[in-house]
Amino acid sequence: MYSTFYKKKLDELLYYTHRNLPVSPASDKLITNAFRFAYEAHKNDKRASGEPFITHPYDVALILAKEIPLDAVSIAAALLHDVVEDTKFTLKDIKAEFGDEVAEIVNGATKIEGMFGNYEMKQVESYKKMLLSMTSDIRVILIKFADRLHNLRTLEFLSTAKQIRLAQETLEIYAPLAHRFGLSSVKTELEDLSFKFLDRKAYDEIAKKLKEKKREREKFIKRFIEPIKERLTKEGYKFEISGRAKHLHSIYKKIVSRNKTFDELYDLFAVRIILDTKNKNDCFSVYGICSEIYLPVPERFKDYISLPKQNNYQSIHTTLVSKEGKMVEVQIRTKEMHEIAEKGIAAHWKYKENNSLHDTNLENWMKWIRESMEMSSKDDTTSQVLESFKLNLYQNEIYCFTPKGELKILPAGATAVDFAFEIHTQIGLQCIGAKVNGKIVNLDTPLKSGDQIEILTSKNQKPKLDWEKFVVTHKAKSDIRKYFNTERRKLIQTGKDIWERKIRKHKIHLSDENFSKIIHRLKYKDTGQFYYVISQDEGKISEVIDILTDKNKLQSLEQRNLFAEDAKLTESISDNFDKYVQEARTSKNGIILGNGSTQNINGLKYDFAKCCNPIPGDEVIGFISYEKGIRIHRRTCKNILNLFLREPERIVQINWNEAGGQEFTGGIKIIGEDKPGILNQITKTISKNFNSNIKSVDIKTRSSMFEGTLILSIQNLKQLNQIIEKINSQEGVFSVERFEQ
Ligand code: MN
Repeated sequence: MYSTFYKKKLDELLYYTHRNLPVSPASDKLITNAFRFAYEAHKNDKRASGEPFITHPYDVALILAKEIPLDAVSIAAALLHDVVEDTKFTLKDIKAEFGDEVAEIVNGATKIEGMFGNYEMKQVESYKKMLLSMTSDIRVILIKFADRLHNLRTLEFLSTAKQIRLAQETLEIYAPLAHRFGLSSVKTELEDLSFKFLDRKAYDEIAKKLKEKKREREKFIKRFIEPIKERLTKEGYKFEISGRAKHLHSIYKKIVSRNKTFDELYDLFAVRIILDTKNKNDCFSVYGICSEIYLPVPERFKDYISLPKQNNYQSIHTTLVSKEGKMVEVQIRTKEMHEIAEKGIAAHWKYKENNSLHDTNLENWMKWIRESMEMSSKDDTTSQVLESFKLNLYQNEIYCFTPKGELKILPAGATAVDFAFEIHTQIGLQCIGAKVNGKIVNLDTPLKSGDQIEILTSKNQKPKLDWEKFVVTHKAKSDIRKYFNTERRKLIQTGKDIWERKIRKHKIHLSDENFSKIIHRLKYKDTGQFYYVISQDEGKISEVIDILTDKNKLQSLEQRNLFAEDAKLTESISDNFDKYVQEARTSKNGIILGNGSTQNINGLKYDFAKCCNPIPGDEVIGFISYEKGIRIHRRTCKNILNLFLREPERIVQINWNEAGGQEFTGGIKIIGEDKPGILNQITKTISKNFNSNIKSVDIKTRSSMFEGTLILSIQNLKQLNQIIEKINSQEGVFSVERFEQ
């Protein structure tokens, strides 16, 4: 049996369950049994932190009880969620002990096992499974979120490679998925935690600045809400009003997307008014009162009460101008709306339990998630699936109408072609044009909220290849791809028929193996591509026939060893290399990079990635390749993140001491006013003040603005930052930043 320590833990879990959920003696018993079972099952396991493993499922269950309470079954399942994956117990054991319902949820939350293939493929299969089980039982996904949340809260104990991989995946998949389910507090925390591990410097900087301005901000908010408070109290409303800073990751995104500094952002916080009322019209009255006190900015008024977001978020958003002339975002909503805004589908589930069994809202919600997440056709490659999966998660929404006034919600950036596919696949495939608000527009024109769209079709129309480039919805993309895949299959068959006729005619006999070798040598990807090309251009056949019928040519092909396998690179891997990689990966501080006078570390070559041009002072990381040795990237480089996802075992940690002495390449991007002599001024500034050569300059101008990219020789990050600062202070320059590809 377990100690008093665990007895207390169980009591704590039960305490929160009682506080947040309707309970019964049966539910207490269920949770107690699940706790005991999990404790026994994980008895001999430890986490990376060294703690007993049971702390993890326990904390996951506690997150559910405290932060997204749903029911006792989900808490029991959370306690058991890693039992099948990590212990000798099987799903059968769980079923025997806890019944079908709990076992199904645990099954849904268990990762796919015994799958071969690369990391990406496994990911796609896991997401598919997760989404499938989620649609049969929403509790699976809540456990997945709580699990991920706890893993991120304790991420510091894992290796850097794992930290980055998990953080990246969370930001790309879990956070936007949480948003879909309306779990905004989970989403916010997942984003901030991932951000912290992906870009510690930026994270710390924003956190520091927010803290510095905290008192000032609080004073301002207090002053701002005072008159609203007074009026609402006088009018007899029951309400809570508060102002709070936005979360770090959203501030970071604003800085990046608006190309502003922290100090230039005005919407760092929002004021929230939560009304204790069942009457949603009160929200509009309160809006009216607020706009009597402060001037509203009309174009920033948003009514998500009459038109809720797809994830059922409801609220009024408005921006008011304070007495000092500052813009302040204000959100107005009822208590119930607020609970759904924070806990999304979990809150909704609760209301469903209390009211009726048939909640069309909830059903529509699930239907929407199911449809938008539907996986693409089986012809798609893994990366295409992953791509459209991610794409789907990210979208903002616009509201458009059919000529009959039917509302269609589309992702921002959607075009008439997306709209056509949204109505029906066939309409999409035969779409030849569109009228937006009565006017003919180009098919790739992005739609706006409130647009009324009429699609023109023709029986003879076929999808165009370039549609794929501008459509944004998952449905349009996958329908178009499906169409072209089918077309391609037909053409491949045609090409194959032509080919077979030809070689019969020339009486050529060729084994499949030799055929594909020739195809490969002639730079075709596979036989399919070869057939496809033939179907378009029969002339290409003679190239191959020529080689096969001409003895000399065939021989020379063989002599040049073209039939041989690719050069056996793998044989050249030295024993040293393996040993070295092993060392590099196990040493705690990673590889130490010296002052760089020799281009190798312990006999292993290294170089710097061209995509991100790291310089001393940057946080860097290495990727090992057999041919090239170690290639060093900046930690924030997009390419390295992708490599991480695919081959985390080839990543090594690098410690770069800043000594320098050598020259590096760094780029800056400058935007400014296009006036005579400005480029000259900039280059002068650099050559006069810094010991740096300009290696290349690339300038584009458009309507009185210029955008220039300068590639410089740089000693270290400090120098680069000084240059950026200096140019930034120059007249006519709007912004200077480090060049990122
Ligand atoms: Mn877990």
